[in-house]
Amino acid sequence: MNNSIYNFKSPDNEPVLNYFEGSPERIALEAELERQSNQIIEIPLIIGGKKIFTGNTSDVVMPHNHSHVLAKYHKAGEKEIAMAIEEARKAHADWSSQNWTTRASVMLKIAELITVKYRAKLNAATMLGQSKNIYQSEIDAVCETADFLRYNVTFASEIYKTQPLSSFNQLNRMEYRALEGFVLAVSPFNFTSIASNLNMSPVMMGNTTIWKPATTAILSNYYLMEIFMEAGVPAGVVNFLPGSGALIGKIVMESRDMAGIHFTGSNNTFNSLWKGVANNLEKYKSYPRLVGETGGKDFIFVHPSADPKEVAVGAFSGAFEYQGQKCSAASRMYVPESLWSDVKKEMVALSESIKMGDVRDSSNFVNAVIDEASFDNIVSYIEYAKSSKEAEIVFGGTYDKSTGYFISPTMILTSNPHFKSMEEEIFGPVITAFVYKDNDMEKTLELCDTTSPYGLTGAVFGRNRMEVVNVCSRLQYAAGNFYINDKPTGAVVGKQPFGGSRGSGTNDKAGGEFNLIRWVSPRTVKETFIPPTDIRYGYMK
Ligand code: NAD
Repeated sequence: MNNSIYNFKSPDNEPVLNYFEGSPERIALEAELERQSNQIIEIPLIIGGKKIFTGNTSDVVMPHNHSHVLAKYHKAGEKEIAMAIEEARKAHADWSSQNWTTRASVMLKIAELITVKYRAKLNAATMLGQSKNIYQSEIDAVCETADFLRYNVTFASEIYKTQPLSSFNQLNRMEYRALEGFVLAVSPFNFTSIASNLNMSPVMMGNTTIWKPATTAILSNYYLMEIFMEAGVPAGVVNFLPGSGALIGKIVMESRDMAGIHFTGSNNTFNSLWKGVANNLEKYKSYPRLVGETGGKDFIFVHPSADPKEVAVGAFSGAFEYQGQKCSAASRMYVPESLWSDVKKEMVALSESIKMGDVRDSSNFVNAVIDEASFDNIVSYIEYAKSSKEAEIVFGGTYDKSTGYFISPTMILTSNPHFKSMEEEIFGPVITAFVYKDNDMEKTLELCDTTSPYGLTGAVFGRNRMEVVNVCSRLQYAAGNFYINDKPTGAVVGKQPFGGSRGSGTNDKAGGEFNLIRWVSPRTVKETFIPPTDIRYGYMK
């Protein structure tokens, strides 16, 4: 038995490498991109540590070159889903009773494997499979994934050492049990790091998972799964189950042992999972923990005291990095009349200075959107704006899906603050601006606060300190992550714990102790040293 008390100090964030031409990391990455581009791998299910090939397959393609097949993945049927439930149940007893430092060491080993041995492999898979450029992949697949793992160990140690007070005749303690059952982890396509964390947060706290990865992120997610196993995650602790979300969700949610859902993705999907749980409520051993981070309609509010260039750079990066496919991406902005022409000029110039194309050409700032359904959906918003009397295209508005799913960064200007693209999440490279009269601040703040159902991220730009403070407090429920003079994207683990409320999710702050606490079910144990031998109160004697 290990009787030590470990104290894991706050780690440093994984440094983002430069990838300058000729650097060792660039040479390794280019070789790996070449290797992965020249093979078609087969991706099995992994249940109870075993690879399963169902024969029911689909292709994994490059979004920026959709005739190029990277892999074939096998899909789970009802039989495999039942097997995964059984394996996750079986593995629970052993994993949850391990000394937590054993689990911590597995987490730290995964982080090391990702940042050293498999850095190029995971980056190349994320770049090719999810169409991220080098920088966007590096900050996600490598740095954020490692940060989640390392910080979770520190947060777990903080949770475990939180103990109740004791007194003379008693000893009180808190045991942090894993949930009684398994966790369903359902991950989105847009962040490799989120896919890892949706599993590894519950797993760190002693739980087992059934992992439903997003179909369009399967290549990087499969390599993650292989790394988990190499690091020592035992068979059955994570069960990798590609396939239909609706089918997997339906069957898994009927299991008596489903103890929680850890979800990131769209509002609609989370709502359907929540309703599924509600419909099955009588079946469960415990009330399942529901943790979901969902969509956003993230804003930039520009105060008349702002610097137009700073606004333009923040809005451009915030709206168009990774093609706007970040839940935190800026997608609506409120600009005062006095600054509009300068902000517009700067943003048009930026749009003319960047290139779009394949991720393997490092001069491209923008790459492809994830798939055809997404492409068509984004285009429908652009066409709607083109045909509306209430809107005009400031720049962009062009698209082409003949080779890859390319949509040029697009800015819409609208005279209607409730225009469709001001209210709905588009999840693509489109930002809509509404220009307000400088003396209409209060009315515009009210609009910003009430226009969309979401509450994820938002930013204010301005040099007037008191006015910025006013905007920050006036919009307190409009965003769970609020930025002052910065773009609303790019939250870093340990620095800006991430999540929003309203329609944006349960706000359990991924990358923080608030999230980890959802994956334990504490038990309080009180021991009395000299038990009483009489029921009467003292004054009755
Ligand atoms: P999505 O909801 O389409 O898919 C997410 C996952 O749910 C996928 O694995 C999918 O296969 C699965 N799924 C779909 N239908 C299902 C069902 N009926 N039952 C069970 N699982 C089902 O989302 P996406 O397109 O992958 O990701 C984009 C969305 O994710 C955007 O709305 C974005 O804002 C959101 N997102 C939010 C955050 C955040 O932290 N708030 C982070 C990243 C992405």
